[in-house]
Amino acid sequence: MRICRYGDERVGLLVEDAVVDVTHLVGDHVAPPDRIGALIADWPRLAGAVAAAGRAGTRVPAAGVTLRAPLPRPSKILAAPVNYHAHQQEMGGDGGVYPGAVVADVTTLAGFVKAPSSVVGPDGAIELPALERRFDHEAEIGVVIGRRARDVGRSEAMAHVFGYVPLLDITMRGGEDRSFRKSFDTFTPIGPALVTADEVADHAAIEFALTVNGEPRQRASTRDLIYDIPRLIELYSAAMTLEPGDLIATGTPAGVAPLEPGDEIVLDCGGVGQLIMPVRQRPV
Ligand code: MN
Repeated sequence: MRICRYGDERVGLLVEDAVVDVTHLVGDHVAPPDRIGALIADWPRLAGAVAAAGRAGTRVPAAGVTLRAPLPRPSKILAAPVNYHAHQQEMGGDGGVYPGAVVADVTTLAGFVKAPSSVVGPDGAIELPALERRFDHEAEIGVVIGRRARDVGRSEAMAHVFGYVPLLDITMRGGEDRSFRKSFDTFTPIGPALVTADEVADHAAIEFALTVNGEPRQRASTRDLIYDIPRLIELYSAAMTLEPGDLIATGTPAGVAPLEPGDEIVLDCGGVGQLIMPVRQRPV
């Protein structure tokens, strides 16, 4: 199933090119921005009713609604630094972002956090601050936690996954800490929907590709992750409790490149969805 957030804090199910309102299944006691999180936390009880609504509910053309970030406020966003070998090589290579540098990977760096306030959806835009700096796109697969996870081993890890979402880890290059450079407002675009884990046959075979203004920039598969998704859940849940609705940005493959105001990014993750984001100057 594909879960979305749209319009005036409605929770929806995307069915083909239509959206079915399932807000009533979450309950009126839940604050509007918390509705998707409540749906995820109560998913074992609600999944059947959501599926039934998808079959029988009133369908409204998705083109006629405004799709918003499907997780407006995760309690945290964990991110894997340098989790593809080809990206590690390009970063430190000749003409790379940090030429000549020995670029450490996830096996050394483990993880960093992005501010939850950096989330934006397909109704918004990536806003670049007016700084003389390089800002890059990073195409990633986002993992959405479904069940509270603490000290979860790799064999149980996937049972804690609610689903997946196309995710961009927008980055300012430079010497500041990653958590600072990657946490500007609008630097974590996600959407258009959360795709439940049952729709993805193999977490280690999710193909994704990114274009900028129609020009191919990144193409990869999660099979090439240095730390795969179960390993990331094992690693992060050993340090901190992962809550339903928390996000893991799994890392970006080779092909990162600078963005300019006026660009349009298309991140196509196959069955996990296609996220289209414009890039503009941050309004002053
Ligand atoms: Mn990244």
